Amino acid sequence: MTAIDTAGLKTMFDEISVAIEADRDRLCQLDGVIGDADHGIAMALGFGAVRDALAALDLSAIEPTALLNTAAKSFLNAVGASSGPLYATAFMRSAAAVKGKAVLEDADVVAMLQAMAQGIRDRGKADIGEKTMVDAWQPAAEAAAAAHAAGKTLTEILDAAFAAAERGAEATKDMIASKGRSSRLGERSLGHMDPGAASAVTVIGAMRKGLA
Ligand code: ADP
Ligand code: MG
Repeated sequence: MTAIDTAGLKTMFDEISVAIEADRDRLCQLDGVIGDADHGIAMALGFGAVRDALAALDLSAIEPTALLNTAAKSFLNAVGASSGPLYATAFMRSAAAVKGKAVLEDADVVAMLQAMAQGIRDRGKADIGEKTMVDAWQPAAEAAAAAHAAGKTLTEILDAAFAAAERGAEATKDMIASKGRSSRLGERSLGHMDPGAASAVTVIGAMRKGLA
């Protein structure tokens, strides 16, 4: 059983900002095909701002909920693109999901992932199959919950979430976008991976690295 404290969560966000920064150009290229080519910039700005905001916190004085709410606020303030409110809502919901906890156990990590996926769905009003980041986040959260219910370790839970996100992102190539900027392309969005689903894989991979 793992117990993740605020320092562990900060490590997770540091890993995400490094991974997103490294992936920035690819994400802009993907967004260039079916969107406006700024997704890598938006995500790098957002997670860079989160990293800086968390670095300024006294981690010993706060609980995971306060850290996650700080992440939500700094992401929202830094990002003007659609991914801004989507991830801000995700982190706000994850903050609410672990309210009152001093450290996070495996079940809390799963609850956090589920809250993130649900927050993105609610904020974007998108469902599975609409070629958005939901197509990576939703299966990832479900796979994490299933792995936890089957008694798996945190590493196995996060491996399962990552693999499901990868499959989900891959599947967006066969979808026609019906939400967000790329929906204007209609059938011309076919054959291309959704950039938000691609970055979700990167985020979840970095969460795995930071938490497991
Ligand atoms: P913008 O489209 O404003 O330039 P970004 O480029 O940062 O924003 O993000 C685009 C990604 O946001 C898309 O690839 C998609 O995954 C996600 N997205 C857009 N609209 C929605 C929505 N309504 N629900 C869920 N995800 C969405
Ligand atoms: Mg864009």
